Formats: sequence, C-alpha cells, structure tokens
Amino acid sequence: MRFYLTTAIDYVNSRPHLGTAYEKITADVIARYKRLSGVETHFLMGNDEHSQNVYKRALERNMDPRAYCDQMEREFRAVWAQLDISFDDFIRTTEPRHKAAVQKLARQCFNQGDIYEGQYEGWYCVSCEAFKQEKDLLEGKCPLHPTLTPEWIREKNYFFRLSKYREPLLEHFRSNPRFLRPENRRNEMLRLLESGLEDISVSRAGQLWGIPLPFAPDNVVYVWFDALINYAAAIGYGSDEPRFAKWWPADLHIVGKDITRFHTVVWPAMLMSAGLALPAQVFGHGWVNFGGQRMSKSLGTSLDPADVAQRFGADPLRLYLVKEISYGGDGDFTWDRYEERYNVDLANNLGNLVSRLSAMAEKFRASRLAPAGAGGRLAQVAGASLARYRTSMDTLALHEGVAAAFEIVDAANEFIAETAPWSLAKKGEAARLDEVLFEVAEAVRVAAVLLRPVMPASSAEILHRVGETTTPDALRLDTDGRWRSEGVRQIAKRPALWPRVESGTPIHESDTRINVEADVQTRPRSESIVDEKPAAGAAAPAAPAAPAAPARITIDDFMKVELRVAKVLEAEAVPKSKKLLKLRVDTGADQRTIVAGIAEAYQPEQLVGRTIVIVANLQPAKLMGVESNGMVLAASPDGGLPTLIGVDPALPPGARVR
Ligand SMILES: [Zn+2]
Repeated sequence: MRFYLTTAIDYVNSRPHLGTAYEKITADVIARYKRLSGVETHFLMGNDEHSQNVYKRALERNMDPRAYCDQMEREFRAVWAQLDISFDDFIRTTEPRHKAAVQKLARQCFNQGDIYEGQYEGWYCVSCEAFKQEKDLLEGKCPLHPTLTPEWIREKNYFFRLSKYREPLLEHFRSNPRFLRPENRRNEMLRLLESGLEDISVSRAGQLWGIPLPFAPDNVVYVWFDALINYAAAIGYGSDEPRFAKWWPADLHIVGKDITRFHTVVWPAMLMSAGLALPAQVFGHGWVNFGGQRMSKSLGTSLDPADVAQRFGADPLRLYLVKEISYGGDGDFTWDRYEERYNVDLANNLGNLVSRLSAMAEKFRASRLAPAGAGGRLAQVAGASLARYRTSMDTLALHEGVAAAFEIVDAANEFIAETAPWSLAKKGEAARLDEVLFEVAEAVRVAAVLLRPVMPASSAEILHRVGETTTPDALRLDTDGRWRSEGVRQIAKRPALWPRVESGTPIHESDTRINVEADVQTRPRSESIVDEKPAAGAAAPAAPAAPAAPARITIDDFMKVELRVAKVLEAEAVPKSKKLLKLRVDTGADQRTIVAGIAEAYQPEQLVGRTIVIVANLQPAKLMGVESNGMVLAASPDGGLPTLIGVDPALPPGARVR
C-alpha cells in the first residue's frame, strides 16, 4: 500500500497567510495519519514560481527573479518547519525536473492534436493570473479581487482543446462519485461540465519568465498549465520513469475550493490527453476567515501563521484549525476564540489530565504503575473512539477524528472525578487504586497515539510522560492505538504542558497550576523539571527524593528549540543597563528585536553585520522595558565574559542550526 498526497503549490509573491497554512496543516495531518496507519506515504508540497506576479515583485525589489524565489523558498520553509509540516518533497517550478515534465506533457498533448494556435481576446485577472469569462465577473470585477480592474487582453496564443474532454470528464465524474469531495463541490463541477466547456489558452506570448513551449519556444507555458504538472514532475514524470510508475496516480490532491475547477476539469483533461491515469481524489477545502472576513493579502485582512504559532506553539494552532473547522467547510479565526479553545481543550482538559495523572502516580505509587485488571469502562470508550477515529480520518472528516480522540480525554477526566483516587488511597483500597491509576494512564496513552497526526510534538511528550518507550515515528495505529493491559508504566512528572492563560496576558510561569484534587500536593515548577525516580522500595512519596541526575531529553524535545542563523542589522545599548544590548536582526523570515546580555563583552558597532545563532521560537519577554523576541547564543565561561557563538558568515539568515 502506498499513498501519494499533494497540496496546491504556492505563489511566492508574498509570505503564506493563515489560510495557506491551514491547507498545509490539514494535509500534514492526513500524511501523518497514513504513516501512523503503516501506509508508505509520499507527501509533496512546493512553490509556484513562474507567476508574472512573482516576476513583477522581484523586479520591484530590484532582485533577480531566481534569487527572489530562493529567498522566498527559505521563508516558506521556515514557516512550514515552525508548523511542524512533514512533507517528503518540496518542488519548485523553476527546477529542471519540473521543466522536463512540463515540456514532455505539452509535447504529448500537442502530438494528440489537443494544442493548437489561435487568437485570444478577453478579460484577464492579473492577481488570479487567469482568464475570466464575462459571466465570471461581478460588476465588471473579479469576485476574488474586487479592488482590481481586469485587463482586456488580445494576443496570439496556443489553446488546449478542453471542450473535447467534456464527455469523458462527465463520465469520469459519474463513475467515480468520490473523485471530488466534498459533495457540494462535486455538484458545482458537474453543473459546470453540463453547461459546456470552452478551450483554454495555455501559453503567453512575449514573456521571459516561464517555460518555453517545446514546439513554439517564443511562447512560455501559461502559469496554470505549468503549475498543475508539478504533481507529476515531482515524482519523476519526464525525468525518472520508474519512480513515476511507482507513485502515479496521486491518491489525493488537497486544494482550496476556489481552484477545484483547475484540478478536477483542466488537470484531468490534460492527463487524459497525455494518456496518463487520473488522480484518485481531489478534496476542495474551505477558507479560514479572520474575524468573519475572508483572509486576503490584497484586502489587508491576513494573518501570519508564524505570529499565531508564536502565541502557544504549533500544536495548539494545528489543533484549533483541525478541530474547530469542519473539513471542507469554511471556518473562522479570532484571537479570543483561539485563546478560549486553548484554555478549554488544552489547559483545562488534556493538559490537566496529564498533570493530574502524574501528580497522583507520584503521590500514591512513586510514579510506577503496575498493570491491574483488564481495563474497565475507559477501555471500552477507547475501543469505540478508535473505531470512530479511523472511519472519520479515512473519510477526511478530520474534525470528527480529533473529536473522537478527545472523547477518551473527556471520559478519563470524568472517570477520575467519579472514582476519586485520593479517597481510595485514604480508605486503603489499594487494589482498586492500582486499577484506576493504570486505567487512566492507559487512556492517556491511547489518546496521545490518536492525537499524534494533529499534535505531533505534544503527543510525543505525553507518550514519554506515560512511559511509552516506542519512538513516536515507529508508532502504529493497529498495535499502539489499542488498549493494553500489560506493561509497568513509569510516569514522568514535568511542568504543565499548557498553562492556562487569562485573556490578553502573556504566559507566565506563575500561571502554571495543576488542578488536581486539593490534597494532592504538587511541587513548584523549578523542582519538577527533572523526572524524579523513586528510591528503591520507597513506600511513601514523603521520603526525601534523592538528588536526581538531570533527565536526558529526546530529539523531539531538542527540536522544539528553533536555533537559526541570523544577521545583526543594528545594535545599540539599552539605556540604564550595563549588560544589555538591543539588536535588530534579520532571521531570514522576519526582522526582529532581541535583547542580549553581552554589553560587557561587545561594543554595539562591533556587532553590526555579524552572523550569529539565535533561539527563534522563544516567548517574547520584556527586558528593561524592551520587548525581546528570541535569544542570542553565547558561550559564558564561569566568571568570564560571554562570547558569541560564531558561524560561517556566508550562511543565509534563517538556516536552521541543529
Ligand atoms: Zn482575481
């Protein structure tokens, strides 16, 4: 079994907004779910670079278009890394493998007689980079770009005989009801097909930026015709045929609802013409609005996903987008709603459950839980949830899949309230207490396995805390998603995963609280950072804990720290501070201020132009009234002055250090 999954490739004339990130996150959840299910998965993403808008944007910035695209690739990759997107391949349409595929496919269609020369005259929306028919316009404007006026274009073009494929497409839609999902988009496309298809222009004359048509090299391939071919190019069409044979056809194209026509009418017709199989399924997702308005750069209503991920980390954002938006429909993001869901789902529910379990395990059983019984009610809930989870995820009802995982979390919290482990301990019901604690630990473990695709880093952390020893990437739903009644669990106690936040306030350590029943004492955060191993034979956790060696961290822990190369643009002293310098740095993805305690070792002017290493994903903090967004890495010998960590000055800002 193999699964080839793609997302739309993105224009690089601006950074991705939250809506773009939504598409990548949901596709990533599907890819991770397939891997968790043991399916060999290939997940493709990429950038669409042959856009005239990209070309214009580069010239506006006085940059070579290729260099501009290189820079944007770094910015896109930085955002995708921050959101934990696990693509297997990232294609750029300026790569030779893509050019080879475009030319091969265009040649095939030409040889079929499906590409011919003609005269085009009509409306063109520069921002969509698409020709528009009169009936597509609203009061003379493109509905997606109401602030722009479409251009009337008249040029000699090459056309693709799309009209010839109307019947075969209708036939394909009828015999493959799952070809386009969700159902409302399928109906929309069926109506469009029934109303007839016109041939489309597939070339632009007199332009330099693009791939020349192999049979008419004065023309470049129209950006949409070019872009669609990336799905075949990435897996070797025209460059590596055995690889192409292995992965084509694609199992799933994830695209926005506004481009389903390109993916379910134009693209399949191109494939039919070239004699290639059609993708098994296209899913047209909805839009994420921002406070009720459509997110759009040109409308000025857009949100940078990097900023949103900065607030609570990538996982809470991933959870919000997947759980709160019914997949296929539109959704909305507001900061208030986001904070509310963070508190409800994570701080109060899942995070609190994990904290209560570890606090009770420590207090009553020295953090070591032995198997007891075959599992009671929670085992049944977990089994039913797993079945619902699978059905939902397999049919791309991602929101229902996550909800199924959270049913286990809810049930475990209720179970604790009902069984009241603290009173079992008081009454000396040791056997029942063993059963209850083990059952809760197992429920948390199963929930964390099911949440792995949505919250990869948090899932790994929770699994570690409940004593799971399988490495996260080796987890398999078939075995690890099922209830286990065996195996001693070593429970780790660590700081709260998601401290509760009050609206508008930054997260502070003092907010870290564990809402466990009153008589379960919790230690202050500073002491609980290391895992405490119980002394051998210790009956009561009241025995003084031996000083523990600092715990080893997992690679997932380390990878949470985003170390990046940055360049110092400006540096100045912080008034009234002997130690602090205020730096303005270029991180590759943005420019930001970092306050560094290196004033005793460096003059500000020594630092400008210097290539340094920073922690890029640190919560902002105010130092002497200046907000610092990150941390500069320096070696500090005991009693000596700090020395900045040096790297090759040729490294571009944004390069990840690991
Ligand atoms: Zn438009």
